[in-house]
Amino acid sequence: MDFTFTEEQEMLRKMARDFLAAECPRDTVRKLIKDEKGFTPELWAKMTELGWPGLIIPEQYGGVGGSFMDIVALVEEMGRGALVGPFFSSLVGTLAVLGMASDQQKADLLPKIASGKLVLTTAFSEPGVGYELDAIQCQATAAGDDWVINGTKLFVENAHLADLILVAAKTKHATKQEGLDLFLVDARSPNVTCSTIETISGDKQSKVIIKGLKLSEAKRLGEAHRGKERITRLLEMATVLKCAEMEGGAQQVLDMTVTYLKERVQFDKPIGTLAPLQHHAANMAVDLEGMKYITYLVAWKVNENLPFAKDVGMAKSWCSDAYRRICDLAHQCHGAIGFCEDHDLPLYSKRSKVSEFAFGDGQYQRRFVAKEIGL
Ligand SMILES: Cc1cc2nc3c(=O)[nH]c(=O)nc-3n(C[C@H](O)[C@H](O)[C@H](O)COP(=O)(O)OP(=O)(O)OC[C@H]3O[C@@H](n4cnc5c(N)ncnc54)[C@H](O)[C@@H]3O)c2cc1C
Repeated sequence: MDFTFTEEQEMLRKMARDFLAAECPRDTVRKLIKDEKGFTPELWAKMTELGWPGLIIPEQYGGVGGSFMDIVALVEEMGRGALVGPFFSSLVGTLAVLGMASDQQKADLLPKIASGKLVLTTAFSEPGVGYELDAIQCQATAAGDDWVINGTKLFVENAHLADLILVAAKTKHATKQEGLDLFLVDARSPNVTCSTIETISGDKQSKVIIKGLKLSEAKRLGEAHRGKERITRLLEMATVLKCAEMEGGAQQVLDMTVTYLKERVQFDKPIGTLAPLQHHAANMAVDLEGMKYITYLVAWKVNENLPFAKDVGMAKSWCSDAYRRICDLAHQCHGAIGFCEDHDLPLYSKRSKVSEFAFGDGQYQRRFVAKEIGL
């Protein structure tokens, strides 16, 4: 096991940190959260210039040909910078295309994604369904050579900015292992209705209703009725990246708290000299270190093509709970200032709550860990 980032990855991290500080500082993030779109085409164009949408896409399709660890390094910085916008959701869609699409579909989609012209998102959750793929109700019915899709999806990230929504739908009433596929749905089709869901952090999530949408076979990814295994793996990879994003955010929360504890003077001394607050900060650091190790471990396994299902459950359950604890302690340390909307801390503590539930919270993930350890 080697968790150290390479020299190139360290350069990528530094470049990403500098770029986000200059182009999307936290004041801008706060404005974007209040904005209806929550992002700007200018920022997307600049990120595209840096090659970010194509970082994981092979060079033959116009991408950079980066590794999963490269993406981990980048997403970690995005978490640190509290970046908003469609990068993460489009990245999950890109991973789906890379892992499931035919050569023809890859040749069609990947160059457009790499050049920033095609923005994706994914739709799994439904009313009454978390990330349990067996419980999906969205139905794709065969109609000759075509498919007709009907269903409702929840918590679809950045559906309002996406060109394509990758929708998980049941293709037949069959066994648990069979009958699930991923479809490429045009987000602007008249048969697709997107409405915004209010969330605590102001990230842009939608309810997506699909009614009688006819799609050709070319809009389905992978072998017919056999998508479950690939979708499971995709969700696991996305969960690892969410852990990296959370861990980057948690690092920023610790850094800003340590700075505050050194600067804030009460009763003639910095409050960081007080043992209870030192304990808070130390507990935050311990939790953060756990987030880093468990995230890097599973990311390394993904990168090396080793089995990683159990590690994903462990990583997400730890990161979900640890990030929440870190933010809670940061609020304790900051006192009233940490509740001001102009302060950076609420950006992160609200995000920690949303991230906690993304791809399944700690309780959900621990069920998988229990299964993986034989229960
Ligand atoms: C939601 C909310 C509503 C509020 N409403 C009111 C209000 O109506 N009226 C009002 O007057 N105030 C109000 N306050 C302010 C509140 O009284 C202060 O938050 C509180 O006195 C702490 O001061 P501070 O925020 O400046 O924290 P700081 O003094 O910066 O303290 C930060 C942290 O250090 C700890 N700390 C500081 N000094 C010591 C010490 N000597 N020993 C050990 N630990 C220490 C604190 O407990 C805290 O955890 C409100 C605060 C909040 C969050």
